[in-house]
Amino acid sequence: MYKQKINKLLIGTNNSGKLREIKSLLPKNIKIYSTSKFNLKSPVENGKTFKENSLIKSKYFSKKTGLICLADDSGLEIDFLNKNPGIYSARWGGRQGDFSKAIRKVYRELNKKDKNWKNKKIKARFICALSISYLNQKIACVLGKIEGHISDKPKGKNGFGYDPIFIPLKKTKTFGQMRPSQKYKMDHRHQAFKKIRKFL
Ligand code: IMP
Repeated sequence: MYKQKINKLLIGTNNSGKLREIKSLLPKNIKIYSTSKFNLKSPVENGKTFKENSLIKSKYFSKKTGLICLADDSGLEIDFLNKNPGIYSARWGGRQGDFSKAIRKVYRELNKKDKNWKNKKIKARFICALSISYLNQKIACVLGKIEGHISDKPKGKNGFGYDPIFIPLKKTKTFGQMRPSQKYKMDHRHQAFKKIRKFL
């Protein structure tokens, strides 16, 4: 385990929605740096799992900046679509990262599989791997999840990505309809965060 107290931390994401959420979870005594300050592109995510991709990012951004880096890799698994989009969740939005395009693709794929899917409960979960690395060394890597199902149409304008189509277990609203603070309390990133907190 990394022994030194972390007082400076780079958040290895170019996604402003994730940056906002991760910042809100971190202890206030840690000075946070974002990748935008360093004008860094994202690395190629060619891992086979969320954990592998998260480590690719935290190591890459740490090596580029010399700072300890916290990075995440996350996505939505839909059981009926053989766990897709999964690690390809960002890619379903195309080069521009167009989330409405990604959502249309989810509905298109569900329709292709079964025209009657709206009468079924389409089980899904958000997954988040969080890792902390210093240069090429892994300090920690954990996984968090939240189970739920796919809404029959997009609802709500809050959040980002697939938020408007995901309804967490035992809730009636999509993440897109919830206040950000309500989503952050329960979501996959928070679950992962609870596990990685002790390394900070
Ligand atoms: P990556 O981790 O940067 O490869 O991208 C993960 C992708 O998964 C994002 O671009 C979103 O499309 C989706 N995603 C991850 N977390 C969330 C979330 O909390 N809400 C909605 N979509 C998410």
